[in-house]
Amino acid sequence: MAQITLDGVNKVFGKNTVIPSLNLEIGKGEFVVFVGPSGSGKSTLLRLIAGLEETSGGRISIEGKDVTMTPCGERGLAMVFQSYALYPHMTVRQNMAFPLEMVGESKASTAAKVEDAARVLDLTRFLERRPSQLSGGQRQRVAIGRAIVRNPTAFLFDEPLSNLDAALRGSMRLEIMKLHQQLESTMIYVTHDQVEAMTMADRIVVLNHGVIEQVGTPQELYERPANLFVAEFIGAPK
Ligand code: ADP
Ligand code: MG
Repeated sequence: MAQITLDGVNKVFGKNTVIPSLNLEIGKGEFVVFVGPSGSGKSTLLRLIAGLEETSGGRISIEGKDVTMTPCGERGLAMVFQSYALYPHMTVRQNMAFPLEMVGESKASTAAKVEDAARVLDLTRFLERRPSQLSGGQRQRVAIGRAIVRNPTAFLFDEPLSNLDAALRGSMRLEIMKLHQQLESTMIYVTHDQVEAMTMADRIVVLNHGVIEQVGTPQELYERPANLFVAEFIGAPK
C-alpha cells in the first residue's frame, strides 16, 4: 500500500489552474524527487501534501487516512525549509527544541530528542551556538534537525540547498542521502536541478505546468524518456 496517495488533486489560484488533476502514489521509505522548471507547480504540490495550502479538488491520503481537510500540524509530516528560516536569536539547541515545545512535549523528552538528532547530524558540539556562528552547511543541518526531532512520517524538502555554493551543495546532497538510509523514512524533495534529481532519487516525478510528464527511476527517465520535454529536461547540460 502506498504511504501517501494523491487522487485527482487540483489547485486553482484565482483564474489560474496550477495543478489540473494529479494522481501519484508514494511508497513508505521512498526518496521521491519532484523536478521541473520554475513555475511548474513543484512547491505548490509539496505545500498541498504538507497541508500548507488547501486543495481546490481531489483527495490526499496518508497511511490510508484521508487528510485532505487535516491541518498541517496534524499530518505527521515535517517540512525542511532553507537554512535561513532558523531563528537567529536562538541557539542550535533552542532552534531544534522549538517545534517540540510548540506541541507541549515534556522538557526531558525534548532534550533527549534534540540530543539524538544532534548526534545523527554531527551537531553535538554546536548546540550552544547561534546560527550566525555556523557555516552554511551546519545551518542547513540544524534546519533538518528541526524536522528530525518530530519523527515525521515523511520529510518534505523544498529546494533546501539552493542558497548554498556548489561545493557545499554536493556534500549536503550526500548527507541527505545518508540520512535517508539511516532513518529509512520517506523523503519528498523538490528541486529544479537535474543533477540533484538524477543522483538522489529512487523515483523522479517530472512536472510541467502542474502535469506529470513522467514518473520513473533516474535510469528509466534517462534511457526511455516519455517525450521530448523529459528528454530535454533530464538531458539538458548544466
Ligand atoms: P515551482 O515551485 O515549480 O517554481 P510554484 O508551485 O511555486 O512553482 O508555482 C506554480 C504556479 O503557481 C506559478 O504560476 C505561480 O505563480 C503560481 N502560484 C504559486 N503560489 C501562488 C499563490 N499563493 N497565489 C497565486 N499564484 C501562485
Ligand atoms: Mg518552488
